[in-house]
Amino acid sequence: MSVPKKKNVVEPMIQSTSNAPQIPSTNTTIPRIYEPSPAPPHVPRISSEAKLLHHTAHVHAISTGSFLPPIMVDIDPVDGVCNLDCNWCCQAKSRSARPAKFMTPNTMKQLGVFCGDWGVKSWRISGDSEPLLNQNIDTLIHSGYDSGIDIGLITNGVFLERVSAFSKLTYLGVSLDATTASTWSQVKNTSPRGFDTIISNIKRIRNDHPSLDLCIKFVRFDAKKSLNKHQFSEHLSIISETDVAEVDNYVEAEEMEDFAKNLGCRAIIRDAYPENFAETYKFSQCHVTPMGGVFDASHNFHLCCDARSVHVLTDDYTRDNWRELPRLWGSDLHKKLIENIQPKQCAGCAKSKMNEILEHIVLPSNHSKDYQLNFI
Ligand code: SF4
Repeated sequence: MSVPKKKNVVEPMIQSTSNAPQIPSTNTTIPRIYEPSPAPPHVPRISSEAKLLHHTAHVHAISTGSFLPPIMVDIDPVDGVCNLDCNWCCQAKSRSARPAKFMTPNTMKQLGVFCGDWGVKSWRISGDSEPLLNQNIDTLIHSGYDSGIDIGLITNGVFLERVSAFSKLTYLGVSLDATTASTWSQVKNTSPRGFDTIISNIKRIRNDHPSLDLCIKFVRFDAKKSLNKHQFSEHLSIISETDVAEVDNYVEAEEMEDFAKNLGCRAIIRDAYPENFAETYKFSQCHVTPMGGVFDASHNFHLCCDARSVHVLTDDYTRDNWRELPRLWGSDLHKKLIENIQPKQCAGCAKSKMNEILEHIVLPSNHSKDYQLNFI
């Protein structure tokens, strides 16, 4: 069943009092409340871990072992192939360990209904591969939107013209990672030609969809200090391996805020994972995976986007007319899989801070007392 989305409705600000200005009836342009603007939306900065406070029922369910449906899932419309080759890509090994596969329109259509009924709140369409290599991307976006799901799309931007359904997105993230074509070409191991096309597509989208949260993503990478694409998921067997160029993009990181602002976008800048990142984790078990999961194009459901192909709950989420996955969710098998996760083997855990909070603040651990929990 189609679920209507809540939309921000802009009410006219004209007062209905006798003192209100009279609007001439002809040949007059009424000022609009909202005009397209090159200024990006102002988003107050909070740490993403603070969002746990919004999902207290899910946190409680994790602490009691009765998992609720995931809050956000990753949707991978493409497996096993990317048109670029970023030096820091934490998905390169996962991608090269399996053949190319494209999610079918039929699966896309059913996925929205399934996730809506299950209680999933949001989709991050990304993948271990470039999602816009799937030419049916609009079908996927419509499927989620029609089932009331908030949708973010993360892409390298090369094929942005394949998307029409921008008005159905909550946000669009373009992983640019450079401000010039030459650096873009070096850090992504590709010809510089595509850079200008991405920029002109960003301008077009900004103009056509002024209220879309359009972000330019930038990963600061230093070939000497950052984890590179060969250092993730080391136990996965690899089909092909390419070199890591001796480059960094630090100078352009300094320019990124202004660069994004000039395009009317929000900049999201973060560092590539440092070498030996896993040694810095302050948690001993993984707790956070019941908040998410990954539906890939091959019908696998993975427990974690950072460990695709490592912890797989089912190899066919459509099995038994889509009834197997909800049955497995929260089962002994599911809990056993989570118990067997060894965090130190996860080279780049994006949710390490959440795991630390869950282990020491929410669940009682030997270190909980060190946090002086009652002094808030
Ligand atoms: S420890 Fe981190 S990277 Fe590993 S499975 Fe858990 S959430 Fe994912």
